[in-house]
Amino acid sequence: MGDRGGRDEGSSYDAIIVGAGHNGLVAGFTLAKAGLRVLILERRDIVGGACVTEEFAPGYRASTGAYVLSMLREPVWRGMKLRRRGVTVDPAGPTLNLYPDGARYLMSDDMEATLSETRRFSSADADALVRFEQDLGELARAVVPFFDRTAFDPRLRGLDDVRSALRYAWQLYGSRRLAQDLAFLFTTSVRQFLGERFRSEHVMAALGWPAINDSLAGPSTPGTAYVLLHDHASDTGEGPRSWGFVRGGMGRLTELMAEAAREAGAEIRLGAPVARVHTRDGRATGVELETGEEIPALRVLSNADPKRTFLRLCDPDDLPASFVGAVEAYRCTGTSMKINLGLGGLPMLAGGSGTTPQPYHTGVMELDPFLTDMDAHQAEAQRGIAADPAHIELCFPTVHDASLAPDGKHIMTVDVNSQPYRLADGDWDTMKEARADRAIAQIAEHFPTLPSMIEHRQVLSPLDLERVLGLTGGHALHGDMAPDQLLFLRPVRGYGDYRTPIRGLYLCGAGTHPGGGVTGANGRNCAREVLRDAKRRIA
Ligand SMILES: Cc1cc2nc3c(=O)[nH]c(=O)nc-3n(C[C@H](O)[C@H](O)[C@H](O)COP(=O)(O)OP(=O)(O)OC[C@H]3O[C@@H](n4cnc5c(N)ncnc54)[C@H](O)[C@@H]3O)c2cc1C
Repeated sequence: MGDRGGRDEGSSYDAIIVGAGHNGLVAGFTLAKAGLRVLILERRDIVGGACVTEEFAPGYRASTGAYVLSMLREPVWRGMKLRRRGVTVDPAGPTLNLYPDGARYLMSDDMEATLSETRRFSSADADALVRFEQDLGELARAVVPFFDRTAFDPRLRGLDDVRSALRYAWQLYGSRRLAQDLAFLFTTSVRQFLGERFRSEHVMAALGWPAINDSLAGPSTPGTAYVLLHDHASDTGEGPRSWGFVRGGMGRLTELMAEAAREAGAEIRLGAPVARVHTRDGRATGVELETGEEIPALRVLSNADPKRTFLRLCDPDDLPASFVGAVEAYRCTGTSMKINLGLGGLPMLAGGSGTTPQPYHTGVMELDPFLTDMDAHQAEAQRGIAADPAHIELCFPTVHDASLAPDGKHIMTVDVNSQPYRLADGDWDTMKEARADRAIAQIAEHFPTLPSMIEHRQVLSPLDLERVLGLTGGHALHGDMAPDQLLFLRPVRGYGDYRTPIRGLYLCGAGTHPGGGVTGANGRNCAREVLRDAKRRIA
């Protein structure tokens, strides 16, 4: 598809980017670096989208959305010189799994220690775990490089598609030994994938809970096994669970991304919500802000999620009816409630004492239901019932970065799963505080002093995540990560290459390949396609 790549010396921008989420910033940086005149328009008064740090009570700052970093692609780190700019990541400590029967299971990067913990549940599972980590690591190494490439189009419409498919084929050829396992991983359920190897319900719950993260699927749903790769998708080469806490919170990362984008020449306007993408003869010609201001541009990239982009910002007459139908059916219903707590001190696990941080405080803690219960919780969530108890993930970012709270105080970040955006009964505004009370009571079974330490709290229901962060359905990943919504099928089939039915309108957010999480891959890949259409190269 041809494009007018030349720099317009008039008032028009070469590219407008709707949204300054991390992917919008990466795309803006990449295009500006290649010499395009770029304007990034963000509806909020801060950059970062779901990757922000905000004060939720005087002196207490938390990462409102994403809170741990692992998947940011190395070309993004390097290209934006993020380390040199001062992004510092403190590696997360061990993951502590806490169960309803009172059992505890500590998993760390120290394999020997993890194996001896695993043997407490099943010595056969300890043997299986070594193999499992190796196999998943190998599968991740085969798949994760695809994150940095545009998904190939299996219709092979022209030479570009053929070249792209050949690159994929070549990469897969190198991993052909794994072909059967990859096919299995992409199609089977977490329960099946783990059930082939493990016996202990505790071990399987600890490994399998990501299946229910940000979707309504349960661990027995075919297609959920793929999410296990995400624990291994780190670009640091440091193996599984190489997640870390960004000093200053996740917003520090996007502040410095914005600095890089501005230095490259991109303009960023905050408090500038886009109301409409303008078109002429099937081609994007610019945007109109909610204020009515019109800003022309040669092309528009949307960092907003697919539903928001096509169903709210575009005129349906500009889109084929079948495409609109597919976007409407795209699964994008969030299931997480986020709670940030300002604490007077650091709560200890039941039976513990003192105030000194323990190794588990430096990592993430999972309140794991067993897989059968996770299936039941997700089935309830599908019917609009918020699970209670639920799977809960929590952490204490202040153990790594004391600047996030006043002296001697702490914050606790809590992510509660199986909390459906659409409720069968009642509404989130009425019930969220009560639901948060229940989640805190569930945590207090393991951290009994927690309730007495809470000085402030911020409760973000899935509806709040939609309102505050601009995520349709409150979906953290701009849509489910399931086989029918991945690769060239993301967001919908026929449009897996960041282009859309409107010429000159591109999608650059998490609703594209390779999906959600703080990777920067979507923004970078999209910018590369824009430059290809504009006949320029990534600098
Ligand atoms: C609670 C929660 C926890 C998470 N935890 C993690 C985690 O620990 N680790 C991890 O890697 N990922 C995590 N994620 C997922 C991750 O944060 C997202 O997938 C990722 O940040 C999406 O980035 P993005 O740039 O594609 O989109 P977004 O961050 O959603 O950015 C889109 C931007 O577009 C703006 N926008 C939308 N509409 C308009 C408009 N009309 N006009 C102007 N601007 C507009 C929005 O305000 C936003 O700034 C979490 C997400 C949530 C919500």
